[in-house]
This record gives sequence, structure tokens and C-alpha cells, in this order.
Amino acid sequence: MTIQMQNTKPGLTSLSDALEIAFADVPVRSSVEERSLVECYGAVLREDVIATVSVPSVDNSAMDGYALRHVDLMMAKGPIDVVGVSLAGHPYAGSLPTGAAIRIATGAAIPDGADCVVIQENVSANDDETIIEISDEVIGRTTLSQNIRWAGEDIKAGDVVLASGMFLRPQDIAIAAGQGRGALTVSKPLSIAVFSTGDELAKPGDPLPPGGIYDSNRFAMIGMLREIGCKVTDLGLLADDFDVLRNALGSAAKTHDVIMTSGGVSVGKADLLKPVVDQLGEITAWKLAIKPGKPLMRGKIGDCLVIGLPGNPVSVLVSGLLYVMPLLRHVMGAQRSQTEPVRIPVRAGFDFKRGTGRREWLRARLVQNDDGEFEAVAFNSTSSGMLSSMVWAEGLIEIPESCGQVSKGDTVLYLPLRGLQ
Ligand code: AMP
Ligand code: MG
Repeated sequence: MTIQMQNTKPGLTSLSDALEIAFADVPVRSSVEERSLVECYGAVLREDVIATVSVPSVDNSAMDGYALRHVDLMMAKGPIDVVGVSLAGHPYAGSLPTGAAIRIATGAAIPDGADCVVIQENVSANDDETIIEISDEVIGRTTLSQNIRWAGEDIKAGDVVLASGMFLRPQDIAIAAGQGRGALTVSKPLSIAVFSTGDELAKPGDPLPPGGIYDSNRFAMIGMLREIGCKVTDLGLLADDFDVLRNALGSAAKTHDVIMTSGGVSVGKADLLKPVVDQLGEITAWKLAIKPGKPLMRGKIGDCLVIGLPGNPVSVLVSGLLYVMPLLRHVMGAQRSQTEPVRIPVRAGFDFKRGTGRREWLRARLVQNDDGEFEAVAFNSTSSGMLSSMVWAEGLIEIPESCGQVSKGDTVLYLPLRGLQ
């Protein structure tokens, strides 16, 4: 596969290229399992689900009322006899006699011969509902097929109701249930070992040594991974020590599909992750033309994919959501459309100047301006160390590599955080 490289900063790979390369490089996991339907929420479907039954299975009423023959109704003069009842699960046996009506409930089968339903609110009935009268005005606006749900109008037997490679949402599970499926073929969860690296880090719950900081990244990583249905092993904190890192990565690689770490992938003296992965396996990508998140590293140890995220908390989240989650979704067998974030064009409510040659994301929210229109506002700092900006944000504004500045009123792309997680 040849990949057309985008024009970006020398020495850095653009996000689009980096993802293309990674998709081509890292195989889709073939392992699938039959999983009981109720355990399938959020899983990646790995079969096409073909309808075996039409829905509805029979013509039925959309409303409570009276089933009639339209032509009879047009000619009706005076009261109409109600000769039977059709309830959901208890159809009227027989066909509708000429000039008569059948009392019918929502979801009940339309009796043979009937071709419209007049809702009960538009009918006057005697006490025991054996005789009804319908006004000329109601008759005048009753049409053929009114309030009838025809068999197969929702789903026809043979239709593909769910396509392989989609993440299953409640409505998808529901449609599979509607086809009588008790289990589905889905991807086995990826097993992922997670740890944070850094001598300055303390474990939440422990006392904070002078100059130390609590490890927050591990909790962001675990959350993102759980969100896409991964089986996470929390391996805690690792010191900036070559042997410690080598031992931990070496043994985690034997028992996991993926290792994900934070910190230690830059060019400082204590940034040891690269040399460790280099010794144990190979580095397959390093440094992306993105902001935040530039030093992100991808490598492998045997068959285990290694993702080294930078240490800054915003970098962890942004590069995690925009590079790692799409890649892991691909590895889980998701269709390409399901790996892409949702990008919505919106008006910018801010001015912004830049010149990094990298794709950049601003932490953002949509707010209503004085004219009542929604526009995106950006957080007042682009520092990748400020985790509070991600808590404030409801979305990200994507600034393309080639864009030098944004002025208030320009159209920009907004990526809702909910659509990324
Ligand atoms: P590094 O990439 O290891 O140089 O880390 C970059 C910055 O992120 C430093 O200021 C670190 O203290 C901070 N950092 C690294 N790891 C974590 C973590 N797990 N939680 C919070 N901050 C971190
Ligand atoms: Mg560090």
C-alpha cells in the first residue's frame, strides 16, 4: 500500500497519514466470540445480522379504534355493527363482514378484509361497544390504509439489519432481539496493560511527597479504554529506570494484546520508554504533527502493540481520543466509519493565531451568542498541562495543519467529546 504523505512539518507525520500507516501496519484481531445479547452493549459486531422474520410479522393497527373496510365506510349511512374484537396476541378469527367493524387495539392483527382503522376518539359507541357511529366529517378525512402498519414495513426477512464492524448501541441490540437472536458474534475484548511512568508520581490515596504529583493519567487511560470495551490490567506506576521498565514491559507483552503507557517518550534524560521498546522489540512510529500530543510513540514487542503516550495530561486525552482510540477500534474489527470522530462545522466565537504546522485541538464548548446562535468558544489557555481545561471542555475545535489563523465568525470543526469517548 502506498500512502500519499501530506505536507506537514519536516520530521513529523500528520495524524491522517499516521493513522493510515497504523491501520495498514497493525492487523485486525481475528478472534471473535459468541456473546449473549445482554452482554453485547458497546461490543464490535463481527457478523452481518440478516433478518429471518419480517417486522411487523402481520398487518396490525397503529392505534386503538375500529377496523373497517374503507369502501363500506364511504357508503355508510347511520350506525355500524361491531361484530368482534382483535387484541394484541389475540387476533379476530375470521374475516370482516361487509358493512361491519371490528374493535381493535394497538398492535393487534388487522382482520381479513379491513383496510383502515378509525381511532376510538373519533367514534361514538354505545355502552357495550357493539354499535358505533362515525360523523361525515371523520368519514371524509379517513383514507385507505389509515393507521395500519403493514407487515414488513419496518424490516423484511432477508434484510441486513446490522452490518459487521459496528459498535453495538442499545437500538442495535434491540433490533437483534427483535429478530429473536439470543447471542451475537462479537470481537473478544482486547487485553490491555496500562501503566504510568515517572519518578515524580504518587499513587492517589498515598501521601504526596514534596515536589511530587499524583498520577492522574492512568485513570484517563483506563477510562478511555473501558469506554471502548477493553479488558484493562492496571499495572500502576513505574519508575524512570531502564531495568524496571524493561522487566515490566517485557512481561506484560507476553500476556496482553496491547501495552499503553504515559510519560517518558520525549527526548529528556529520564525518557526511557523508547530505548526500552527498541531493545525489546521495535519502534514503528514516533512523533506526530499534532498539538497536544506530539511525542506519541507506537511500537511492538512480539505481537503486542505498544502505545507510549506523552506525560502531559491533556496530551494523554487528546492523542488518546484522536489517535489511539481510532487505532484500537480498527484492531477490534470496527468499520472505518466507526473509527472516525464526529466532526461538526460550527461558527467560531473566538480569534486564534498560530503557526505550528501541526494539527491542533483547542478545548471548546458551544454557547449561545447574543443573537441566539450557537458558536464555539475556546479555553483561554492551550497548555497541555492543564487538566482542568478538559474538564471544562465539552468538545474540541480542530485546527487543520494548513490553517494559520481563525477569526470570529469563521467555520471551524467541532468534535463533541461525547462522540469521541
Ligand atoms: P514526561 O512526558 O514524562 O516528560 O511528562 C511530561 C509532564 O507530564 C511532566 O510535567 C510530568 O510531571 C507530567 N506527567 C507525567 N506523567 C503523569 C501522570 N501520570 N499524571 C499526571 N501528570 C503526569
Ligand atoms: Mg516523565
